[in-house]
Amino acid sequence: MKIIVHRGTRQIGGSCIEICTDQARIIFDIGEELPDKYQKEREKKLLVVDDLFVNSKTTDRKIDGIIISHNHGDHIGLIDSTKEGIPLFIGKISADVHNIICDFTSKGNKIKAHKYIEHEKPFKIKDIVITPYLVDHSAYDSYAFMIESNGKKILYTGDFRKHGAKGKLSEWFYKNPKTHNADVLIIEGTNLYKENYVAETENQIGARALEFMKKTAGNVFVLQSSANIDRLVQMYIAAKHSNRLFLVDIFTANILAQLPDNIPNPKTFKDVKVFYPYWLTQRMFKEENKSHLAYKFSQYKLDNEELNQRTDLCVLVRENMLSDIQKKMNYSKSGVIYSKWEGYKTDKKVETFLDFFRKNNSEIESIHTSGHADTDTIKNFVKYSNPKKIIPVHTETPEIYSKLFGDIVGNIKDGIEYIV
Ligand SMILES: [Zn+2]
Ligand SMILES: [Zn+2]
Repeated sequence: MKIIVHRGTRQIGGSCIEICTDQARIIFDIGEELPDKYQKEREKKLLVVDDLFVNSKTTDRKIDGIIISHNHGDHIGLIDSTKEGIPLFIGKISADVHNIICDFTSKGNKIKAHKYIEHEKPFKIKDIVITPYLVDHSAYDSYAFMIESNGKKILYTGDFRKHGAKGKLSEWFYKNPKTHNADVLIIEGTNLYKENYVAETENQIGARALEFMKKTAGNVFVLQSSANIDRLVQMYIAAKHSNRLFLVDIFTANILAQLPDNIPNPKTFKDVKVFYPYWLTQRMFKEENKSHLAYKFSQYKLDNEELNQRTDLCVLVRENMLSDIQKKMNYSKSGVIYSKWEGYKTDKKVETFLDFFRKNNSEIESIHTSGHADTDTIKNFVKYSNPKKIIPVHTETPEIYSKLFGDIVGNIKDGIEYIV
């Protein structure tokens, strides 16, 4: 087998990795580069891969499949520009949530999978056998992979961690004897720039959120990603234990409708209700074939009078809902939980949102943890799985891998072939 990391050996996000044999070419992830707030001048690295994109050079070596580890934009963002007819492999929920995001943001087209990948269900593309393993990450339905061909074995972790709700699954991936002694481990290293970083667990985040919700007299507004389901569950539990009604908007309600029923959602949880942000609702009614996404939840709507008067709500919000909060909700004695990456605070919309609450004398607390592995998790991964070679990706500090694990770490650059 051969590995070509087309993008990702020296950067976080925009991942694209090719694994091929004489017979087959497979692409793992096809990500868009993340916006870089701190290095706006950083040169974007154009992704050039023969036969992959509409405008790529065509050779006689067609691509046999694109496999997506999870639906974050830095792993799936360029899917719309790929050549027609390349089979797509992705988790079912991952695809469904991606399609809902397309519906609501009008960014990109919906996707259609050739085959849904499933936990520990191997499948074959020509002479390559791929076994997906569910892992813990801030996107629901995220996978790592074992890739086997001609007696060789490669592992690719995708994005993962161990401190969330599915930590046991990540552990199963690296403690499972089947994955041990791989010829190459391609592993993410997002957090390695922080020395000996220990991540707070999602449960600890939940406990801090509960404390905050208990001491806040009025409504609590939680600024978080609607697709971060681990976090949403923690916020729901905290709301429940502080006797608050959990309120989500129609976008979040539609995402939740794609998930198993044991995840809090308006249909099966009596203490989860829905609200309709003005501009978003207007858009859903204006655009063709989208009004059903709004109507679908009308029976779970919190009526306007209640929305206006209640002070015991825990509301999941986004920055662009500020005018809905100002016009329709009670924000006196309210509090804000900022539950996203700190770097987003320099974003104008976030600033405006937080400024409003600062002027309102609302307490604002940052309660967040990373979606990526901390140092100990990475050390344990390598210790248990015992790979012969390591290729760090999704990191700006691959040299820390060399510091931690020595000579088995390959100094691989983007676009260079590595023969397994
Ligand atoms: Zn990523
Ligand atoms: Zn991710």
